Amino acid sequence: MAHVGFIGLGNMGLPMAANLAAAGHAVSGFDLAAANAEAARAKAITPAESAAAAVANADFVVTMLPAGPHVRSVWAEVVASAPKSAVLIDSSTIDVDSARAVHALATEQGIASLDAPVSGGVGGAEAGTLTFMCGGDAEVFARATGPLEIMGSRLIHCGGAGAGQVAKLCNNMSLAIAMIGTSEAMNMGLKLGLDAQTLFDVMSTSSGATWALTHHCPIPGPVAASAANKDYKAGFSGSLMLKDLSLAQEVAKTADSASPLGALAMQLFRMHVNAGHGDLDYAAIVKTLAGETA
Ligand code: NAD
Repeated sequence: MAHVGFIGLGNMGLPMAANLAAAGHAVSGFDLAAANAEAARAKAITPAESAAAAVANADFVVTMLPAGPHVRSVWAEVVASAPKSAVLIDSSTIDVDSARAVHALATEQGIASLDAPVSGGVGGAEAGTLTFMCGGDAEVFARATGPLEIMGSRLIHCGGAGAGQVAKLCNNMSLAIAMIGTSEAMNMGLKLGLDAQTLFDVMSTSSGATWALTHHCPIPGPVAASAANKDYKAGFSGSLMLKDLSLAQEVAKTADSASPLGALAMQLFRMHVNAGHGDLDYAAIVKTLAGETA
């Protein structure tokens, strides 16, 4: 049994921490929102008074926070309070500069750290089947596999500090572009009189097949588990996709990497979110592309 300090008990963090507690680890959790701390108690997580208190005896610390500034601020507190023997793991999706800055903060204090953003959404967090994309020393990655294997089913060491965040942003930019292309093609086919299932049967077994189509088909009907069959209830929301596309554009700029479709995807998701659809699943971009206003 290990002691785990878990900071950020929101949509993702709470089920992740709950899986660690269910596996027999002693989990001490902290979230700024009092209601989340109470929900944690019901999942055998011990609520702490502060981030510092949550990590005081930790073997592992996991942070699952909204964005870079939250992670920088919490890690400043964590590195001052966690034992030097702890491994600090940030699983939030954040900008690469912040990821590298908090690695440096931990290194200065002689504490091991890993950036380990995830894919798999709230469903994957609940089921313990997340994919972790990890950046940091290989030896630290090896030390962290115990708790990561409880929360996820696939762990990939992507390289040094920040490499996990880079991999996550590459993946999500590609997913957004694929979903937009799939949506555009399906809208056109339906407008020209094709049946949704027939079009899906062709595209999913032909060269136009994408993971976005076969797992998250944006048109209701063909894929039972798709959010399209649940009035586009997220899943992975359009707002979070916009956040990831914006972060991807930031790194594309710093790397001088041409990203014309990523830039366009970001603008389309910005229009979609500004039109009030940000809380819907990202597959609902199909509605904005079809010119639907609601
Ligand atoms: P969320 O908003 O539900 O949870 C974040 C939690 O952090 C909130 O409960 C908030 O109160 C808490 N928090 C903020 N500042 C804090 C602080 N200083 N100290 C302690 N707690 C603090 O967000 P989420 O959906 O759980 O996402 C968390 C991260 O995971 C984000 O970076 C997101 O991009 C990423 N992510 C989310 C999904 C998803 O499907 N929701 C999928 C993959 C990755």
